[in-house]
Amino acid sequence: MNKKSGIKKAAAAILLALAAGMLTSCLPYLNIDEITLPPETSGITPEITTAVETTASPEVTTEEETTSAPETTEEVTTEPETTVEETTEEITTEPETTPEPEVTETPWNLVLVNPWYPLPEDYEFELTTVTGKYKIDSRCADALKQFLADCKAAGHTPYICSAYRTWDDQVYLFDKKVKSFTSKGYSEEEAKILAAKETAVPGTSEHQLGLAVDILCQSRPWLDEGQANTATQKWLMANCHKYGFILRYPKGTTPITGIIYEPWHYRYVGVEIATEIMTKGITFEEYLGLIGAPEETTSEETMINE
Ligand SMILES: [Zn+2]
Repeated sequence: MNKKSGIKKAAAAILLALAAGMLTSCLPYLNIDEITLPPETSGITPEITTAVETTASPEVTTEEETTSAPETTEEVTTEPETTVEETTEEITTEPETTPEPEVTETPWNLVLVNPWYPLPEDYEFELTTVTGKYKIDSRCADALKQFLADCKAAGHTPYICSAYRTWDDQVYLFDKKVKSFTSKGYSEEEAKILAAKETAVPGTSEHQLGLAVDILCQSRPWLDEGQANTATQKWLMANCHKYGFILRYPKGTTPITGIIYEPWHYRYVGVEIATEIMTKGITFEEYLGLIGAPEETTSEETMINE
């Protein structure tokens, strides 16, 4: 389920220690103290986990079972002379034992970054400028440009207010914040927890992935929930999937995404997947079947208890 579990486990452990306050990874301008997180996390999670598991797992197993097994075995026993060919077939049968799919590299458009799944430090991609100083992963730059152009053509006034952020930027900002606390006499550990409440922990901001963009309406240039009521934002939400984007943090999904409702943050996943996610009204985490902390990491209550 998590091929980069080594990195993720370590990062998840840090994240848990850093705890609650870092949920504003893409919101450098918001007052973090204002963020309220629904306390009923534990009530919501189990249901969703079950639903996702049910739909996800069978497909993988079925494919493998279909391609392998019975026929191969019979051929081997009936015609032992054609040794060479059968050896090849036998090999194809074996992967059944080892769960190969889990080791497969995650496609770039499906990489999950959230408080429980940080961005790997060696993650690399190319950037393309979309507007002004704002850049995004080159592989979805044209889609984003078209998304904005069509929104404008429909009579609206969208503009980008945040896109790609470098890992170094995030590390610099976070370390600076940690130092401000250690200089006041806090231990390194205490300082990190306090810092995480004000500056996003490096690797947990989807903006570092290069696939996220914050778009606002010119008539309401603020990162608040009222943004959802603007004609521009309504158009963006209704049409984003056609360009491969999803509204990443829908209302009421904080226990799953770890991020507050953001009616301005869009993330690229590709047209087909975006259409499925937006049509079903689910989150990216639900689509992937990756909800909450991976493996043995305890409960989300530890994360979201502020
Ligand atoms: Zn954002």
